[in-house]
Amino acid sequence: MPDTYITTTLPYVNARPHIGFALELVQADVLARYHRGRGDAVRFQAGTDDNSLKNVLAAGSAGVGVREFVDRNAEAFGALGGALSLSVDDFIRTSRDPRHRPGVEAFWRACSADLYRQRYTGLYCTGCEQFYTPAELLHGRCPEHETEPEPVNEENWFFRLSRYAAPLREAITTGRLRIEPAGRRNEVLALIDGGLADFSVSRPATRAGGWGIPVPGDPGQVVYVWFDALCNYVTALGYGQGGPVHGEAYRRWWARPGSRVHLLGKGVLRFHAVYWPAMLLASGQQLPTGIFVHDYLTAGGRKISKSGAGAGALEPAALAAEYGADAVRWWLLREVPRVGDADFTVERLVARADDELANGLGNLVNRVVAMIGRYRAGRIPAPAPVPPGGEDLDAAIRQAGDLVGAALADFDFRQATAAVWAIADEGNRFVNRVRPWNLAKAGSAGRLDAVLHLLARACAAAGRELGPFLPDAAARVTAQCTPDGAGRLPDPRPVFRRLAP
Ligand SMILES: [Zn+2]
Repeated sequence: MPDTYITTTLPYVNARPHIGFALELVQADVLARYHRGRGDAVRFQAGTDDNSLKNVLAAGSAGVGVREFVDRNAEAFGALGGALSLSVDDFIRTSRDPRHRPGVEAFWRACSADLYRQRYTGLYCTGCEQFYTPAELLHGRCPEHETEPEPVNEENWFFRLSRYAAPLREAITTGRLRIEPAGRRNEVLALIDGGLADFSVSRPATRAGGWGIPVPGDPGQVVYVWFDALCNYVTALGYGQGGPVHGEAYRRWWARPGSRVHLLGKGVLRFHAVYWPAMLLASGQQLPTGIFVHDYLTAGGRKISKSGAGAGALEPAALAAEYGADAVRWWLLREVPRVGDADFTVERLVARADDELANGLGNLVNRVVAMIGRYRAGRIPAPAPVPPGGEDLDAAIRQAGDLVGAALADFDFRQATAAVWAIADEGNRFVNRVRPWNLAKAGSAGRLDAVLHLLARACAAAGRELGPFLPDAAARVTAQCTPDGAGRLPDPRPVFRRLAP
């Protein structure tokens, strides 16, 4: 089985995390757990981008020192791991991690043939941390932030991106670098075909408030935060450590054949699908194998703002504390489409969890365990042929694994969870159709055995297939369906609580 390296982007820590970023973390966690479950070696990495000018400005308006401000918010991002039951293997903080700075310096030097100094005048959006050409603006404003960029005239280091159009195009069109969904791949190809201008990769240290990594050999400049941040995908693996051989983790997870998958939001596509691969090519490294791009969440029909009114109520840790990590994860996985934005409200989260988890899967497990307790003293009947009327449920059980695998290979979390949900849905339908209590009353012991056996299979399959998506709930479902040493199932206990008041 191949080694699989999965990363999320590093969010700025200019504010506390919101539900939109939880989407990416949960998606990455599902992939990591799924591959681990198949026996693949997996490394799942997340972290925070501390060295952004945005952080410096936000600390200033909060009246707090940059270090204290960055540490405080970065801690809130780190705490999401526990709150959302994430299986993160490695969490890198670009301002504190001792692996990062030497790696960035080595990366910079490895690109030196493509770096040059030049005076530059441009329009800079601090929100995006990037220069915009007038043609890229919407009515003179940043398309992401709807703010007016500020004119900047300064001397910077530039990266010769213009050299890499042909190799980038080749990597993407051959599928060596897979970009999903296809609309995003086409967007990147259009960017490349539109002509790639060299981009600035440093800032005067004075404008950065002294925050950031000094350019090797030019301490008056700091490395541009995007160049710095993108390097995390390899610095955390030990790139630049131990000389030209780099660290052992780097050799294993990046230099060897395997999967190297980045998850990211549509707003940072150009950085990950154009700048980053070009930087890797310039420094003689392998490219990622996959880039998966998600769209954005809105909240109650409005763009999510980290600091706007009600932002606190949209903190994923607060939502998980109130409604449970299972409910938050389930909403993100079940309702957010592969393409297109999704609108988050607490009402939708509660409705989805109650419908499908408490009243759907939870109800099924509870009924089945109770019936096996009542009619068969807690012992699951021996395997029997599928009883009449159980064909659809049997098919849902048998197909779930393949459907989940195919959907996840396509980064389609909604399809993947639909395959798990189908087991619960068909299971409840089957119970309502065959009415096992009538079979018990009528003394149809053989029929009842076959029905209960199929239902026990359904619950066990649901627990197994649910694992990557809702690890906590999956463990509870599996515990309910697993006989003890005496061969008996435990007493029925609700696996989900109802959330609606
Ligand atoms: Zn912007």
